[in-house]
Amino acid sequence: MADWVSLDREYIMSTYSRLPIIIDQAKGNYLIDTNQKRYLDLFTGLAVNILGHSHPYLMNALRAQAERFLHISNFFYNTPAITLAQRLIKETLGEGKVYFCSTGAEATEAAIKSIHKWTVKHQNEKQGVVVLKNSFHGRTHGALRLTRQPGIYQDFPTLPIKIYEVEINDSESLQKVCEENNPAAILVEPILGAGGILPLTPDFLQTVQSICEAKDILFCLDEIQTGVGRTGTLFAYQAYDLRPDLILFAKGIGGGLPLGGIIAGKKLMDTFAPGDHGTTFSPSPLSAALGNAVLDVLLDQNQMEIGKEVADFLWSELQKLQREFGNIVEQINGRGMMIGIVTNLDKSSIQTLQQSFLQEGILINVTAGTVIRLLPPLTLTKQEVSHFITIFHQLLSKM
Ligand code: PLP
Repeated sequence: MADWVSLDREYIMSTYSRLPIIIDQAKGNYLIDTNQKRYLDLFTGLAVNILGHSHPYLMNALRAQAERFLHISNFFYNTPAITLAQRLIKETLGEGKVYFCSTGAEATEAAIKSIHKWTVKHQNEKQGVVVLKNSFHGRTHGALRLTRQPGIYQDFPTLPIKIYEVEINDSESLQKVCEENNPAAILVEPILGAGGILPLTPDFLQTVQSICEAKDILFCLDEIQTGVGRTGTLFAYQAYDLRPDLILFAKGIGGGLPLGGIIAGKKLMDTFAPGDHGTTFSPSPLSAALGNAVLDVLLDQNQMEIGKEVADFLWSELQKLQREFGNIVEQINGRGMMIGIVTNLDKSSIQTLQQSFLQEGILINVTAGTVIRLLPPLTLTKQEVSHFITIFHQLLSKM
């Protein structure tokens, strides 16, 4: 068999460190490696495989669209994309338009450009975007400006977008920044994902909304990781009484294929004119067909509700573990199938824990240094939860 590890080192630019397994197949809630070992996937390709792997309904939709056409370009009407846009508007803002792209960072780029267009329309009186410390909005050049994790934005040259950075859930600082400056937009993740699964409080979100309404600032939500049913509602903001102007989405919507975009409400829906923005491949008809299939399963086949019930069970079991192992598990944050288990372990112990989970056939992720991040599929079963908890209990007992 080819030595994939050496070949990867030789030919692929090293932008991610990898786990020591080579995946051969993925089925349901499991990854299967080349030794036919199965791993319960509690990471879902970084919040992408929201319905697990090779979901039969999605595979049928994929085959059906593949038989029709794979790519036609933006010079023709893209029927799967039109249907998906219509459904996304109906399920979110009620009125608005969608711009499709392929990735989360591209959604952020589209957001930056559409905020800019709106600023120009308002005679440039408003400038810049307020973002949160530790936020993550992508790694392309423009998206990197809005990402406030020093390890990620590093010393890449900066673009001329004014950025105001505020601590999460600090309503006073947010008020002050918006009083002292005249920002065009506030962009927040309802739950900071890469920042360590840090939820914004309902009060803070309400403050963002009130400031935006009072000062005519664009209220923008990055739902790239929180969206598509992950937190128990189609988008996380829908658990509250919020009316964003712009929603960024990606990851789960394509059911495993690249698909992202922005949902723009009344203020922004007509900011782009032909020629202002676009890319050859997006929206991919294949990805859009899968997007429709994802919504079918989540909403029409009730998988979002089923997943919510299993998520509640997972939370209650994790809370029991926390009570027993309070010396290691400090806090559990997040909502639904987006969970951050804050530990007091150092980096090397948490890596050992992750390796031990792998040996036991369970895939977890670690973010923000020492936070165990779980992004399970909404198809997870209660039996799988119990199995994970049993293993977690065993591993914690040995520490
Ligand atoms: N925004 C958020 C909240 C994310 O979690 C991510 C990816 O993790 C991105 C943006 C960037 O998405 P992508 O990696 O598809 O460019």
